[in-house]
Amino acid sequence: MKLGIYIQVPFCQTKCTYCNFHTGVFSRALYDPYVNAVCRELSEHAALCRAVGIELHADSLEADTVYIGGGTPSLLEPAALARIVEEVPSAFGGAAHEITLEADPETVTPEKAAAWRAAGINRISLGVQSFHDAELKAAGRMHRRADVFSAERTLRDAGFANLSFDLIAGLPHQNSESWSGSLTELLALRPEHVSVYMLEIDEGSRLGREVLLGGARYGAAAVPGDDDIASFYELACERLAAAGYEHYEISNWALPGFRSQHNLKYWRREPYLGFGAGAHSFNGRERWANAHDPAAYVAAIETGRLPIEQRERLSPQQALEEELFLGREITRTRNFSEQTAIAIDAEVKKIVTTAMKRSEKILKQNMAKLHGLANALLEREILDSDEIDKVLRGEELPPAERRTNGQDEQNEARKNPSEQAVKVKPEPAAAAGSSIPKPKKIQ
Ligand code: SF4
Repeated sequence: MKLGIYIQVPFCQTKCTYCNFHTGVFSRALYDPYVNAVCRELSEHAALCRAVGIELHADSLEADTVYIGGGTPSLLEPAALARIVEEVPSAFGGAAHEITLEADPETVTPEKAAAWRAAGINRISLGVQSFHDAELKAAGRMHRRADVFSAERTLRDAGFANLSFDLIAGLPHQNSESWSGSLTELLALRPEHVSVYMLEIDEGSRLGREVLLGGARYGAAAVPGDDDIASFYELACERLAAAGYEHYEISNWALPGFRSQHNLKYWRREPYLGFGAGAHSFNGRERWANAHDPAAYVAAIETGRLPIEQRERLSPQQALEEELFLGREITRTRNFSEQTAIAIDAEVKKIVTTAMKRSEKILKQNMAKLHGLANALLEREILDSDEIDKVLRGEELPPAERRTNGQDEQNEARKNPSEQAVKVKPEPAAAAGSSIPKPKKIQ
């Protein structure tokens, strides 16, 4: 199994209103030290991981995909990106057949596009988001509709034969007509790959705060409703299918032969290593993530230390749950790996055997109590809850006062319903903040 390499570049030109990722606007003076740190992390990854007790298995150390994401990695100088791309085969061997760069349309120039191709980058994921300027403006994006057409032409002219376009369903001011228009324009350009993300507003973003607290700056009042967003997604499903795109993951479509090989590794739980501030890694058994703050990340790498912020070793049950969950996300028929199939088989056998042993033990332990209860019932016909408790504790009941039924008690209770009734209070409405779900990664 080959490895995926993810490079995180957390620099943006501005902060989009809906975004709450660990990315931001940083001084350009940080760019070079950051790239140096990423290259050092790549070249010293084995020693850095070993120093913190993370094992990397030799059979998964050949990289076949590279994904440079962010942030806006297309802000980096092409020479800096080329250094990173060159470092990968030196560090991992093998030749990556898919090297993706995320780019924002306004950052694409003929010089950059040519340099990216020369560096071996062969796939561009373009953050289009919408073909409507009012929506782009409200979202705080730097590009406009015309930039998308210009970037597409420039990239094609530079020889890129694998482009992916992102669209966001649910931007402020979006409606069914504008959404349909965006789909029409996207399909006319016919990128090889399309991602459609349904906007989930994070309460920590500027738009999220406006949704919670009110205001008119970011268009919170013009965010489409959930039903509208669902219908936008359905329309995308129909239009993309009709145009020959395969819907291979919940947010992703591709023309035949153009599924994202790198992203498939995440959805198939294959190993990947992330480099840079906040980058996540997974070696099949353990996940870990670097510190999010770029300056802290650079400082740590410069002193030969891996700045791990989160680390989690997965139990077999967690691994199984992830396999099942991710399996649902991928719409193609899923075949479990042999190793996973064995793990599932072993897990099921363990659950069944434990349940059988437990029920046998419980039955044996409680046989005497069950006998006691049966005898008491034979004697009295009806037992109240105190009497049942006593029998189960093995205590003697006082001499039997035979009762025939509980009707008298029930009639007594009905005389004063206000004291007997337990009103079920409606649950308080969810706090406004908690009604805002976490966002999907949207660039
Ligand atoms: S959405 Fe993307 S481009 Fe916009 S601020 Fe967030 S990371 Fe940067």
